[in-house]
Amino acid sequence: MDYIPAKSILSPRRPEGWFASDYTVNLYRGCCHGCIYCDSRSECYGITDFDTVRAKRDAVEILTRELRGKRRAGVVLTGSMSDPYNPFEEKERLTRRGLQALVQYGFGAAVLTKSPLVTRDIDLFRQMGKRAPTSVSVTITTAEDDLCCRIERHVAPSSQRLAALTALARAGVPCGVLLSPVLPFINDTEENIRAIVSRAADAGCRWVYAEMAFGVTLRQNQRLYFYDRLDEAFPGLKQRYIRQYGDQYACYSPDTRRLWQAFASACEARGLLYRMEDISAMLKAPYQATQLSLFGPGQ
Ligand code: SF4
Repeated sequence: MDYIPAKSILSPRRPEGWFASDYTVNLYRGCCHGCIYCDSRSECYGITDFDTVRAKRDAVEILTRELRGKRRAGVVLTGSMSDPYNPFEEKERLTRRGLQALVQYGFGAAVLTKSPLVTRDIDLFRQMGKRAPTSVSVTITTAEDDLCCRIERHVAPSSQRLAALTALARAGVPCGVLLSPVLPFINDTEENIRAIVSRAADAGCRWVYAEMAFGVTLRQNQRLYFYDRLDEAFPGLKQRYIRQYGDQYACYSPDTRRLWQAFASACEARGLLYRMEDISAMLKAPYQATQLSLFGPGQ
């Protein structure tokens, strides 16, 4: 494991970010999960050799110092730029130690990952959930394992991620699916969307969140990387993308409207939340009730 210097770890989010988050944290830089569409490899983020995972030197110590200096606790989102449960985490335990620091200072976490390793830290999610909004979202873009292995090449397939969600839900950790991206002409079928929603509900998830209304963003070198992977795994599809989208940043599925209707009705039928404002409100609600009762009549 290589280390890179870091001055600061905790970045504020204003306005509130996904899953009621107030801060973002990335303890690692780079990711080896090999998703063909990964936006984090875009030049604008300045991460060279993105597939090599490096750890930020003294990351947990810096994070602990920054948490200690905050006057109010909040929710820390991790997983926005790299997966906090990369294969090195099993030994390095950087993410686990970071979560322990959050527990120590009364912070909550919003974890985004594709790895079943996240279940290792169920004990910490349960502890932090007693004091602050805590959630785990696992990305699932296709219900089919063989397609998953072609687009998210070096991480556990969808069935194993669903098993991880089942374990989280059974342990009482609020969890859900991040259904993003939806790649035009690859996983943008109503059958796929409905299957993911159904399996999420069966697993005990509380939400399915589709970040972009069924599409993918492409820019700079990330687009070139994606097109090279299309040539390898989906011959002929690159030309279709070029014809349909040219240099467009947001590439929506031609079926986006129909897919959204199917998605929303499937979520409603299974009692799953799918709008971020509703998910965040649900996550915060128990703690707001606690605060109100502290300052209510007779106090
Ligand atoms: S898991 Fe996330 S950060 Fe890692 S390669 Fe896939 S999309 Fe990129």
